[in-house]
Amino acid sequence: MTGQDSKERIVSFGFEDVTETEKVARVKGVFRSVASRYDLMNDLMSAGVHRLWKHDAMNRLNPQPGERHLDVAGGTGELARAFLALADKAGKRRGDTRQATAIVSDINDAMLEAGKARPDNAQWGDRLAWVCADGQNLPYPDKTFDAVTVSFGIRNFADRVAGLREFRRVLKTGGRLAVLEFSHMTAPILQEAYDRYSFAVIPRMGELVAGDRDSYQYLIESIRKFPGQQTFKSEIEGAGFGQVSVTNYSGGIAALHFGWAV
Ligand code: SAM
Repeated sequence: MTGQDSKERIVSFGFEDVTETEKVARVKGVFRSVASRYDLMNDLMSAGVHRLWKHDAMNRLNPQPGERHLDVAGGTGELARAFLALADKAGKRRGDTRQATAIVSDINDAMLEAGKARPDNAQWGDRLAWVCADGQNLPYPDKTFDAVTVSFGIRNFADRVAGLREFRRVLKTGGRLAVLEFSHMTAPILQEAYDRYSFAVIPRMGELVAGDRDSYQYLIESIRKFPGQQTFKSEIEGAGFGQVSVTNYSGGIAALHFGWAV
């Protein structure tokens, strides 16, 4: 081990402890492996419910005509397309013709390629852009965006708090942050049942549908390692956000943290 390696923080990769550098490499491996089956697996694992969570999160974000949106760890671009559609809807209601724009950024080019191949991008033309970037080190000047979203992405960051500070940096003051992430169930008895289901079923489903058991084992382990709703809320506040609210979905299987850049 070199002197530089020995100074690296140790972080969790599922239930394993690894260096930050190793986590970044292994997370890239996970999403490279699942990219082509990613959307299908999401629908199967959650019986489509993840779409309802995302739909509610984007309504809460309330996209507006002319706004600039960055979807960090945006994968196949679902939130960015929703942002543009909702902004246009709001514009139509008010007769405001300014066009919103959205950027899907992700550390993994395989996920972006899977997103770019989707037929429902065509209607957005150059209002929808795709950028390969680490969410902890975004290639944008301070105060660029009106809204930043991250769905099911921040759990995979090597340094989550560094990511939150970076989102604050690129947001305009008064901009909105919406973080949707798997979370912890509010009733302990339900958590036990959910744990039993997910550990027994999800890796097996990953093996059958995506030919990759290990990536889906990582998925459920990383969910268990993610902090609870209130701890994560404090981290968001500490990164420079105010009026942070928490909305639990499906009893806490997922939670939306919503805050304002102050
Ligand atoms: N946001 C999409 C969604 O909700 O469907 C994709 C979520 S997928 C579970 C997690 C994504 O996070 C992957 O596309 C992965 O490449 C990306 N990711 C992981 N670490 C990242 C980082 N440090 N910076 C940017 N993206 C990252």
